[in-house]
Amino acid sequence: MPAADPHAAPLAQYIDDHFDEFIATLVGLARIPSISAEPAPAPAVQASAHAVKDAMIAAGLERCEVLELPGAHPYAYGEWLRAPGRPTLLLYAHHDVQPPGRSDHWRTPPFEPTRVGERLYGRGVVDDKAGIVTHLAAIQAWLGTRGQLPVNVKLIVEGEEESGSDHLEEFLHAHREKLAADVIVLTDTANLEAGLPSLTYRLRGLVNVFVEVRGLDHPLHSGMWGGPLPDPVQAMAKILATLSDDAGVPAIPGLLDDVRAPSKVERAALARLPYDDDQFRADSGLLPSCTLVGEREFSIYERLWVRPAITVIALEASPIQGSSNQLVPSARARVSCRIVPDMDPAQVGALICAHLARVAPWGVEVTTRVESASPGWICVPEGPAFEAAARALTRGFGRETALIGAGGSIPFVGPFAAAFGGAPALLVGLEDPICNAHSENESLNLDDWKKSMKGAAYLYAELADYRKA
Ligand SMILES: [Zn+2]
Repeated sequence: MPAADPHAAPLAQYIDDHFDEFIATLVGLARIPSISAEPAPAPAVQASAHAVKDAMIAAGLERCEVLELPGAHPYAYGEWLRAPGRPTLLLYAHHDVQPPGRSDHWRTPPFEPTRVGERLYGRGVVDDKAGIVTHLAAIQAWLGTRGQLPVNVKLIVEGEEESGSDHLEEFLHAHREKLAADVIVLTDTANLEAGLPSLTYRLRGLVNVFVEVRGLDHPLHSGMWGGPLPDPVQAMAKILATLSDDAGVPAIPGLLDDVRAPSKVERAALARLPYDDDQFRADSGLLPSCTLVGEREFSIYERLWVRPAITVIALEASPIQGSSNQLVPSARARVSCRIVPDMDPAQVGALICAHLARVAPWGVEVTTRVESASPGWICVPEGPAFEAAARALTRGFGRETALIGAGGSIPFVGPFAAAFGGAPALLVGLEDPICNAHSENESLNLDDWKKSMKGAAYLYAELADYRKA
């Protein structure tokens, strides 16, 4: 704590004075539609990596470059390593974004970042381009006030996080030495509520399965043929309906076998976090007639963070527009399972595929394919690095830091923490519950963002004397 004190006021002042400039940097980055769902090489993702590199140079980082791997969307990298004898932090964010979704549902154009009151709207403004600029602002604040940092930093900004980080292992293999660090700091998670700084100590993993159901080799007149012939679309509906039971609990046999209940200590800690049922419903946009679903014996946070979830994220057979009276020959869906650290991604993929084939009615042909499979992650949020982060965020936000889980996935965390000898990974929150990340009208809470920048800057001082236990 004392290490940060003499620097805190100037750092905060610098961030206040330069906040408009940081917003301008973010707006510039968020104008680039760096959608990593496009196959590589995607010009916009490449332009984005170069824009991030330029922003790194402007913030005062050194040896900035765009890192390419064949078939992968590029990473941007920059470093400042002029603090001999001090620990090295690997700072992480990602510059790719989700597709914008339904364009008519955006109140402002997704790639024209627009400020409305104390929020900035646009695709990627919070997930995760604000994360990039948080690191840059912290670095720039130190260089601008002290001419140096109290730690060494390496900033890595990924280009394919939103499409599953498919080349992560290759990337780690190629750049392990370059990226070696004592502590990892990520800005790609949420705060539990606006104004409440949060450190995330567990993430769910993700298994996506494609499924196709075929019953006919071509469309047929539904009047001439309907009756004796199986409808592949209803077959798909029956199959998908078996993914959960009547209470909305995942119902794939074996899926929950390896999932341990959270420890008493963890359950007690989660139970102490603030939770407001009406707020949760309002933030989610749940319609008033709908009930909450899932395992009743687990709290909402437990259902979100420590239990798996199944979602059908895509479904297609025949579009409403232009549909005619016919039996459609086939239907396709993408089934997405959020898994927890006890679960093996490959095994979950195999279980889902086997289940989809087993429950298919009427002998329809079922083809399945595991499209991506990444594990969850958990750490024990204790020790000097976590204490340092909690102090820094508490000072930045003026509120006690919460330890939370996240239902989403960041494939980067587990492999990199392991590669650097179990280096602590500090997942510092940015999103608030109404930010709509991945959906339309994504937005950033500017007030919280400024506090995050201050917390990030204070963290460097807090970690200046960090030594691996
Ligand atoms: Zn993200």
